[in-house]
Amino acid sequence: MTLPGLSFIAFSCPGTLFPAAPPRMVGWFGARGQIQAKRIEFVESEKRYDVIIAGAGPAGTAAGRMLAETGVRVLILDKARFPRLKACGGGLSPHIVPIVGPLPEDVLEASVGRVRFSYAGGRPFDVELEPPGIVMVMRDLFDNHLLQCAQQAGCEIREGREGTAVAAVEVVTDGGETWRSELLLGADGPMSRVARSVGLLPRRSMGIGLSAETDVSPEDLERWGGTACIDFGVVPAGYGWVFPKRNHLSCGVATTLPRLPDIRTRLYDFLDRIPATKNKIHARLQGHLLPYCDGTQTLVSRRTLLVGDAASLVDPLTGEGIHFAVMSGRMAARVIAEGRPLREYEEQVNDEIRLDLQYAARLASLFYRFPGVSYRIGVRSRRAVGFFEELLAGKRTYRSVHAELKSLFSVRFLRSIGGRRA
Ligand SMILES: Cc1cc2nc3c(=O)[nH]c(=O)nc-3n(C[C@H](O)[C@H](O)[C@H](O)COP(=O)(O)OP(=O)(O)OC[C@H]3O[C@@H](n4cnc5c(N)ncnc54)[C@H](O)[C@@H]3O)c2cc1C
Repeated sequence: MTLPGLSFIAFSCPGTLFPAAPPRMVGWFGARGQIQAKRIEFVESEKRYDVIIAGAGPAGTAAGRMLAETGVRVLILDKARFPRLKACGGGLSPHIVPIVGPLPEDVLEASVGRVRFSYAGGRPFDVELEPPGIVMVMRDLFDNHLLQCAQQAGCEIREGREGTAVAAVEVVTDGGETWRSELLLGADGPMSRVARSVGLLPRRSMGIGLSAETDVSPEDLERWGGTACIDFGVVPAGYGWVFPKRNHLSCGVATTLPRLPDIRTRLYDFLDRIPATKNKIHARLQGHLLPYCDGTQTLVSRRTLLVGDAASLVDPLTGEGIHFAVMSGRMAARVIAEGRPLREYEEQVNDEIRLDLQYAARLASLFYRFPGVSYRIGVRSRRAVGFFEELLAGKRTYRSVHAELKSLFSVRFLRSIGGRRA
């Protein structure tokens, strides 16, 4: 199997994706994959892989599992040891479950059949969801399960190893190890070292999120069961959430703004307005970046592909990212396993993820610019709610709802502004 466009490289890799080449010569790559002559060196009998994946989140493990299932030799490395914490609401849209396979009982925390929307603690508005609704997980257990699936499929795993020096086909870790491969997958999250080291995605739109886990009384948990709450008036350009889990509530706030200095205070104010979470201890407080999809910058260099958050594939309207992480990981794996040109991965991501998320970005910019009015018009409208349900169930794309929502928004919005000004 050969990868088109890569024949200029002299590598020793019998039995790998590449045909045999002069022995033990390894080219190192700098920005954008150019060979840095001074770093050419010889490699003795060390272990090589077809693909190294930096990052064992949903994107990395989805890619690794699929590649290993097709016989590709994969090493997944992660700086954390699993199960590891990850700032996240842990809400999965229903269409992801068939892709990752059935979740074990201890991983599936709860299922949500109702979303309760509100604005700044005002009168709530309930939307009932078709089964299976939103699936709730805790990221430490969910990601650990996906990692085990990848390992069972045949991936080698190295935990507690941070990729510190990353060239296009070589990763040096903080422990001083060096691993080499034919291809490198950057699945290492929003601050992707892989992306930076090969000069990909130089400009990114980053939002921020803060999540916490809150123990509540069994009565409150029972009352909360099956309902996810989303309040749009908690932070500018974003929302606050409370999601039910098996034994507690997961809470948080997220914004598309790159900075929000009082984000912690805003989270506490939000939780103090809710009787079940008022005056409770909010544990495992974790902040993290949300790399929103904002265009179609390139995601591949000669031997490197970016997937998941490393490729900035978070939905700018909802903050959902796990689904796109898994999708992109699998798309990258398929292109690699089939020996197709790497740019086909990027084309597929553009066609199936990014073009649609650009419509989400347009809706987000409209919605979050005037959240109060948008909430009244958008969230409380029966038509808009129908779109939301269909989007969640994967029956609609943002593209298909954009025009309809836009006209709904503009007519009612102009009316509401005009009405007030008149
Ligand atoms: C507060 C918050 C709430 C969210 N809630 C939701 C939600 O409810 N639903 C949803 O779908 N999405 C949510 N998201 C988004 C979601 O968490 C991400 O989109 C998703 O985790 C992306 O998966 P990934 O595999 O690309 O990256 P990650 O899950 O971030 O995994 C990256 C991995 O790379 C490792 N790593 C990083 N650097 C290195 C390195 N140099 N060497 C080795 N390993 C490295 C990290 O340890 C990590 O394990 C939320 C995000 C935030 C911040």
